[in-house]
Amino acid sequence: MAEADPSSRVAPGGAARAAGRAVDRITVALAGNPNSGKTTIFNHLTGSHQHVGNYPGVTVEKKTGVCHHRGVRLDVVDLPGTYSLTAYSTDELVAREFVIDEHPDVVVDILDASNLERHLYLAVQFMELGLPLVLVLNMSDVAAAQGYVVDLDRLSGLLGGVPLVPAVGNRGQGIDAIRDAILAVATGERALRPVPITYGRELDREIEALTAALEPEASRLAPRRPRWVALKLLENDARIRERVERVCASAAEVLAATDAAVGRLRTILGDAPEIVIADRRYGFISGACQETVRSTVELRHTRSDQIDAIVTHPLLGLPLFLGLMYLVFWATFSLGEYPMQGIDRLFQWLGEGVSGLWPQGSPSALRSLLVDGVIRGVGGVIVFVPSIGILFLAIALLEDSGYMARAAFIVDRWMHKIGLHGKSFIPMVIGFGCTVPAILATRVLENRRDRLTTMLVLPLMSCGARLPIYVLLTGAFFAERWRAPVMWILYLVGMAAAVLLAKLLRATLLRGETEPFVMELPPYRAPTLQGTLLHMWQRVWMYVRKAGTIILGVSVVLWALSSYPKPPAEVAAGLAPPARRAAALEYSVAGRIGQAMEPVTRPLGFDWRVNTALVGAFAAKEVFVVQMGIVHSLGDGRTDEPDLLHQTLRDEYSPLQAVAIMVFCLLGFPCMATVAVMRSESGSWKWALLQWAGLTVLAYGVTLIVYQVGTALGIGAG
Ligand code: GDP
Ligand code: MG
Repeated sequence: MAEADPSSRVAPGGAARAAGRAVDRITVALAGNPNSGKTTIFNHLTGSHQHVGNYPGVTVEKKTGVCHHRGVRLDVVDLPGTYSLTAYSTDELVAREFVIDEHPDVVVDILDASNLERHLYLAVQFMELGLPLVLVLNMSDVAAAQGYVVDLDRLSGLLGGVPLVPAVGNRGQGIDAIRDAILAVATGERALRPVPITYGRELDREIEALTAALEPEASRLAPRRPRWVALKLLENDARIRERVERVCASAAEVLAATDAAVGRLRTILGDAPEIVIADRRYGFISGACQETVRSTVELRHTRSDQIDAIVTHPLLGLPLFLGLMYLVFWATFSLGEYPMQGIDRLFQWLGEGVSGLWPQGSPSALRSLLVDGVIRGVGGVIVFVPSIGILFLAIALLEDSGYMARAAFIVDRWMHKIGLHGKSFIPMVIGFGCTVPAILATRVLENRRDRLTTMLVLPLMSCGARLPIYVLLTGAFFAERWRAPVMWILYLVGMAAAVLLAKLLRATLLRGETEPFVMELPPYRAPTLQGTLLHMWQRVWMYVRKAGTIILGVSVVLWALSSYPKPPAEVAAGLAPPARRAAALEYSVAGRIGQAMEPVTRPLGFDWRVNTALVGAFAAKEVFVVQMGIVHSLGDGRTDEPDLLHQTLRDEYSPLQAVAIMVFCLLGFPCMATVAVMRSESGSWKWALLQWAGLTVLAYGVTLIVYQVGTALGIGAG
C-alpha cells in the first residue's frame, strides 16, 4: 500500500531527482497478457486512492488510479489485457493507440513468470516501440514452485537494461519495488538501451530501405519511429497503413515500396513477412530465455525445442557442428570435381582455339597476352565456381533453415570466454564467403571495441578466394581421402587463430566489457528453393564478377610483369625450351621481385616463383593459382592440363612446402579489398595497416615453425 511506505510521506511538492531530471507527476500505463495479475497489481499499486471509471474517448473500459511515492504523483492507467500489439483485436488496438498517442511516461508490463517466454512477446513489442518500460515478473511464487530460476541481472542486460521486478501480486509482494523502478525509469536514473532484434538478412534489408524512405516524414509519424512504422508496414498492419496514408507526403511511394517488398519477401521466405517477423521475435525471446532461465524440471514442448535439446546440447552441440562442417567440405570436393573438369576443358579448348590463330611456335606477344594472361587468368579462377557454389549452397541451407543461429548459440558460450559474443559469429560465417561483406556485417555490433576486435580477426576466417589455393595444392599433394580432412583442419586452424587473436586483443589493445546480447533462436523452417538459390547465387555471382574485373586486370598486369623485360638473345641461346622459359621468367620484373624476396621467404620454404604468386595474391587470393600456372608454363603458348600442373608442382615442391604455402595464405596478408574496406569501416588507416602487418607477421611466424619443425622431423619432405 502506498501509505505503508514511509518515504511516500514526503512533503507535497517534493520531487524525485536523478540524472538531472526532476519529476513530480508520472503517467503509468499498466499492460500485460490477460490473467497475468494486472488487476491485482493495479489494486495494490493504487491502494485506497483507486478511482475506477470509464476512460474517455474509447469504448473499452480503462481504469485509472492515483498514488504517491517518494513525493511523486503516479497516475496509473490500466490498459486492456493483450497478448500482442498487432491490429487484430480491439483490445490490442486500444492498448497500442494509448501508448502511441497518449505518451505515458512509463509502461509497466505485468508478466506471468511461470510462463515467461509467452509473456515476453508483448514486452519485446513495447521494447521495439522504444517506450520507457518496467517488467514485473508476477506469479514468482508459481514460477518458483514449478522449478524456474531466472538470472534477473543477465536477462535485464540482454533486454537493454530494462528493470525486472519479481512480484507476488496476490500477497502484495514487490509493490514498492515496482514503484521504485517506475521512478528510476521516468527520471532517467535507469537508462534503457534500444534492443534491435535482427529479422534476418532479407527482412533487415527491406526494413532498412523502408525506414530510410520514412525518415523525412519522421516528424509527422506517430510514434516518431520510422523503423517501427516500417516494421509494421511489412507486417501488413492496416491501421499503420492508414496512418501513413493520412500524414505522409510520400505515402503513395512508401506504400508501393511496401507492397513490392512484401511480394519479394513472400517469395524468398516462403511465408508472409508477418509470420516470419513473429518467428524471429520468438527466436529472440527463446534465445534470451535459454541463456537466463533454468528449469529444474524438464519441460520441452515444440519440435524446435526437441531439436534444440540435441543441437544446442552443451556436449553434443560442438561435435555436431564440426561434423556438419566436415560434411560440407567433403561435398565441396567430391561433388565439385566433375563440373570442374568440364569447365577446365572448356577453357583449354578456348585457349587452344585462340592459340591456333597463330602459326605453331610463333612468338606473338598478343597471343601470349590472350592465352596466358586473359584466358588462363579468368579460366583459372572460373574453374573453381563449382566448389564455391557447393560451399555457398551448404552455407545458405544452414543459414536459412535456422541451424546457423544454433551454431552461433553454441559458440556463444565459448565466445564469451574470449571476450566476444555469439553475434560476432555471424560476420565470421559470412567471412567464409568473403571478408569484405563480413567486415560490413560487423555493423550489427554496437560496441566499437567488440566491432573492431571482430573486424581485425575476420581475415582469419578462410574466405572463398582461398579455396582455389587449397583445392590446387591439396589436389596435387594429397591422396583423395586426405583432401577434405586437410581443408577442414585448415579452416579450423584459421578459426582457432581468430579466437586466440581476439582474446589477445581483448586483453590488450581493446580491453573492456562486452555488452550483453541475445542470441536469437528462431524456430527451424524448411528453406525455400528460391531463397536458398538466391543466397547461393548472390555470392557466386560476386565471385564470377570479380573474375571478370579485378582478376582479369591483375592477370594482365601479372602477365606483363612476368613477360617483360625479355632476356637478351644470348641468355636463351642453346637452352632447351623449359630452361629457356625459366630463364625468361627469372629475367622478368616479376621474377626479379620474387628473387629479391627470397632471403626473407626461404626459411618458409618458398622459392621465388611462389613469391611472385604471393605478390599477385595480395591483389586477390585467387590470383595465386593463376600465377602458379603462369610461372610454371609461360611462353610455350598453350594452356596446361591441371594434371600437368599438379605433376609440375609435385616435381618442384614437397608436400611440406605445399602445407607451408597454404598456412601462409590462410593466416597472412589480407587482400587489397580487405585493406580498403577496413580503412573505411574502422575510420582510419591505422587499423587497416595494423591488421595487414599483424596478420602477415603472425603468418610468417606460424609458417616458419611449421616448415622448420617439419623439415627437422623429416615430415612431408616429398
Ligand atoms: P488480470 O486478468 O491480469 O487482471 O489478472 P487478475 O489480477 O485478475 O489475476 C488473475 C488471478 O491470478 C487472480 O485469481 C489473482 O488472485 C491471481 N494472482 C495474481 N497475482 C498472483 C501471484 O503473484 N501469484 C499467484 N499465485 N496468484 C496471483
Ligand atoms: Mg483484470
